[in-house]
Amino acid sequence: MTDVAIVGAGPTGLMLACELRLAGAEVVVLEALPERTGHSKALGLHARSLEVLAQRGIVERFLAEGHPKVPVGHFAGIRKLDFERFAGDHPYMLRIPQADTERLLERWALELGVELRFDARVTGLAQDAAGVALTVEGAEGAYVLPAAYAAGCDGGHSTVRELLGVGFPGTPTTLTAMVGDVELPGLDQPVTGSMPRHTNGVAMQFPLGPGLYRVVTVEFDKVTDRDAPLDIDVLRTAYRSIAGTDYGMRGARWLSRFGDATREAAQYRVGRVFLAGDAAHIHFPASGQGLNLGIQDAANLGWKLAAVLAGRAGEELLDTYHEERHPVAAAVLHNTRAQVALMEPGDKVGALRELFDVLLDFDEVRDFLTGMVNGLDVVYPASGDHPLAGRRVPNAVLKTEDGERRVHELLHGGHGVLLDLSDGAPALAAGSRRAAVDTVRARADELGAGALLIRPDGYVAWAAPAGEVTGEGLEPALTKWFGATG
Ligand SMILES: Cc1cc2nc3c(=O)[nH]c(=O)nc-3n(C[C@H](O)[C@H](O)[C@H](O)COP(=O)(O)OP(=O)(O)OC[C@H]3O[C@@H](n4cnc5c(N)ncnc54)[C@H](O)[C@@H]3O)c2cc1C
Repeated sequence: MTDVAIVGAGPTGLMLACELRLAGAEVVVLEALPERTGHSKALGLHARSLEVLAQRGIVERFLAEGHPKVPVGHFAGIRKLDFERFAGDHPYMLRIPQADTERLLERWALELGVELRFDARVTGLAQDAAGVALTVEGAEGAYVLPAAYAAGCDGGHSTVRELLGVGFPGTPTTLTAMVGDVELPGLDQPVTGSMPRHTNGVAMQFPLGPGLYRVVTVEFDKVTDRDAPLDIDVLRTAYRSIAGTDYGMRGARWLSRFGDATREAAQYRVGRVFLAGDAAHIHFPASGQGLNLGIQDAANLGWKLAAVLAGRAGEELLDTYHEERHPVAAAVLHNTRAQVALMEPGDKVGALRELFDVLLDFDEVRDFLTGMVNGLDVVYPASGDHPLAGRRVPNAVLKTEDGERRVHELLHGGHGVLLDLSDGAPALAAGSRRAAVDTVRARADELGAGALLIRPDGYVAWAAPAGEVTGEGLEPALTKWFGATG
């Protein structure tokens, strides 16, 4: 029996596999496709995802392949989000095709010893108190894979979600949207600025490489079946009817339909089975948030599940996955619906949009929306009377006995960290008794804290203000996040 069977080798499944393996769990990933398609829906990684990768010491691989670093983002096509206003090592969105993100995550997974099976479609699922049994069909015929736990990372049409009978409430699609990677030989002006506004829909493009553009059309007056035939003529016709020209569109490398169906799984956990990524939430791909959400779901679930598997923490830790991630995705679903509403044609929306455009000149509004789309505003329940409690830990410079280190380095191994910033406060001794927590003594004035308990996913579980550290609340926080004995 393997520890965890992960269904789906998209970005979410791969990231979860890595997180689990890093913490010592045995992982098998089952992927229905016989091989990767090489196509990319998503084109970018936001700051919080890059930080999560930096915490594991692999962000350089992504930075080496991705470019450019886009410092400005958009809300409903209004290009005024200023990523550079956010403190951190990655004040930008890294442009990197999903296919490259998947390739790099797959490489890391294989290095860590994850077993990855292609042409392995999960068609059945049963679970009891002892484990999960997945029915798999594909290259090796049909067989049953037993596992202690399973995770459905199998995308928006998740088989696992259906087999679990988990509801997927929300709203159906209301529009027809298409995406194509094409040549536009007639486009001679540079593509910059906000989304052009047309009277009957959205037609936009941005450069992917020499001569190649990603084109997106949105028609608000009709709903077309996602499986309806699609070729370059269909995209060209839609584009021309919206924009009045097609720039000689030709040479399609990839075409796809998408929509604005907005749904979230009612439960992220059913017994021994979890849902993550698109299997748990779908929405219109505005501001490039879906893949990033999935990576961060995986970062939240991986260490918790590994701790329970290792016997360090009790099953109740697993419920915090839904408690923490469901509201985060719900907020994203909400903002994408708002963005779709703001993109609709018509004078009324036009007026609202103009107002929004003006509001986005206010730093507070911009920062609020920026934090929402790049994932830096996530706050989880935590203890301690300190502004960092529940937030991502800054990658501060630490002065330790062994020289300077950065906070993210301490998280490379996926352990918890008790950061003692107060010269060995006796009250922190409880932390040094925990095998799952590394105690690190350092100075870091920029953190403005006396001590921090940092979870393996980089969120601050407990924080003490600078000055004398009493340790109040530390023991319960250690027990909650690292178990009674971990
Ligand atoms: C046009 C478009 C543009 C987008 N742009 C962005 C963007 O810029 N930024 C961003 O963050 N997000 C973007 N997204 C969203 C992003 O692509 C998805 O959120 C992301 O792919 C989700 O990853 P995932 O691993 O959860 O699911 P998926 O990528 O869907 O992967 C699921 C995997 O599971 C496999 N699978 C399915 N069923 C089974 C089964 N029964 N057994 C075994 N395997 C199975 C599938 O073959 C697939 O490989 C965009 C989406 C679209 C449509």
